[in-house]
Amino acid sequence: MTEDTKEKGRRYAQFLESLPQDDRDKLNLESLRIAENEHKNFRIMFRARHCYLCEKSLTSFYLQQPCLHWLLNPKGFKKEHLPLIAEKYGFFQMQSYLRWVANEESYLKNINDLEDEGTGKLFEVTIKYKKIEWSFSCSENDYLGHKTTQHSQHPHYHLQMRIDKRPFINYSDFHLGFSDYEIATIEAMKIAPNTVKGRFAFGESIGDFLTAYEAEDIVRSSLSTDAPDDAAIKIDTLIIADEGKTISGEEIYAIYEKSKKKGVTIASLAHEMPNSSAQTFISPGPGVVDQAPRSSRKKKR
Ligand SMILES: [Zn+2]
Ligand SMILES: [Zn+2]
Ligand SMILES: [Zn+2]
Repeated sequence: MTEDTKEKGRRYAQFLESLPQDDRDKLNLESLRIAENEHKNFRIMFRARHCYLCEKSLTSFYLQQPCLHWLLNPKGFKKEHLPLIAEKYGFFQMQSYLRWVANEESYLKNINDLEDEGTGKLFEVTIKYKKIEWSFSCSENDYLGHKTTQHSQHPHYHLQMRIDKRPFINYSDFHLGFSDYEIATIEAMKIAPNTVKGRFAFGESIGDFLTAYEAEDIVRSSLSTDAPDDAAIKIDTLIIADEGKTISGEEIYAIYEKSKKKGVTIASLAHEMPNSSAQTFISPGPGVVDQAPRSSRKKKR
């Protein structure tokens, strides 16, 4: 069964790869336009504290009508209700919704799917909104199906939900199955990663941002912050004196003062420093949500 589905995904990826770039661009643009409309609708409703899917209040809970807004923990929602929404919406849609929610509070820094902070799984991402934090996790083993129970043999993923940093749903509570469509999509992503990208329009993470833009553009468009502990991006500047020259403390201080006054980063002004060259290093800032580990292995930022 699963093999057939995987084969379908592989054939779909081959089909996409065989298309001329022009046609592929058109398809991408089309799906972006659809996402744009949906997101606009989501945002208007969300800011009025309503759900764009069921059109009810975000705090409402009707057992007969499973909806993604349940993940925002309305009164009445319990962990045993999770499979109802997981089955109805699936891995990608659940994640996309939560990414949109997270970016409503603060763009980029509430979504961490950084590879080098992860543990090498197929999918691992932590998403945060206010006091709630959701993490999706799918290892190669989960995707292949580990053979401990009937349920876990099917390709699946795990979800953790924490409220106020306290466990509400644990990774080990559920083996949430991928649908056939999702399996085909994942298979297509695996064999043609450059053509079939797992992108979430308007649900960009800090990692998506850092890979999409050149360091120079980030420096130019970044504003410095008075709350560095909260920053989404960390910009470090290394200023090196030209050979045989020195840089005085006053010169550095002058740049520092100017950056504070103008509210721009030191990196964007470094070129004004005489007799020196500057190198800039960009990395995720301390304000980025941490990935919630599933195994005990965890890297520190
Ligand atoms: Zn809803
Ligand atoms: Zn598993
Ligand atoms: Zn398991």
